[in-house]
Amino acid sequence: MTRINGFVGRRNLLKLAGIGGAGIAASAVKSGLLLNGEEAKAQTTPTKTEKRPRPVSPDEALKKLLRGNERFVAGKRANPNQSQLRLLETSVAQYPYASILGCADSRVPAEIVFDQGLGDLFVVRVAGNVASQTAIGSLEFSSAVLGSQLIIVLGHAKCGAVIAAVKGDPLPGRIGIFVEEIKPAVESVRQKTGDLEKNSIIANIQYQVKKLPETSTILGNLVKEGKLKIVGGVYDLASGKVTLVT
Ligand SMILES: [Zn+2]
Repeated sequence: MTRINGFVGRRNLLKLAGIGGAGIAASAVKSGLLLNGEEAKAQTTPTKTEKRPRPVSPDEALKKLLRGNERFVAGKRANPNQSQLRLLETSVAQYPYASILGCADSRVPAEIVFDQGLGDLFVVRVAGNVASQTAIGSLEFSSAVLGSQLIIVLGHAKCGAVIAAVKGDPLPGRIGIFVEEIKPAVESVRQKTGDLEKNSIIANIQYQVKKLPETSTILGNLVKEGKLKIVGGVYDLASGKVTLVT
């Protein structure tokens, strides 16, 4: 697959999606790809290619993320890519090397816990880190269009959304919508020995990791082609450490 400045070409995007047709391509560009004039220009101007950051493989992306988390845990954050220059660079285009599907919990801000900066991470946060339809769409965009080669589903200890799914009580408003998306994971470990809450938090991460390529043809095909890796991690609120669980 060819990438222009980190972007998968339109034809390849359709191939990934398992669909074809110029009409779909035109509407995808028109409506969904969110390219402003400068970004579109950056994609098609060959002279810009040399300025593109070196592509990061899925494995390198994971190592880079985990190294950032180690710095955070050790209290040695480097706060990379937060200069005025970086601000200017990223105002032209973005090439995030990794995507995060994390919980909206105020204690788990992705850029801080992974010690990253502007334009590094494409972050989707929703209570319970669920692979909802809109979350999947956002991750398809970051992976197939922006060229991010890693997705980490990041759950955490004491997740209120998972605890609500474990309890199963009726919930007001639309709170129940994301809780429903966690329940299959909880049910899969309800009979398991040990702490149901802890088991459910891990099971939910693993369930959402599995769900992404299964329900998204675009993500599934990228994984098959070795262009994308999807992993799960659990964040410890006290130590700040991320531990892989897939
Ligand atoms: Zn949470």
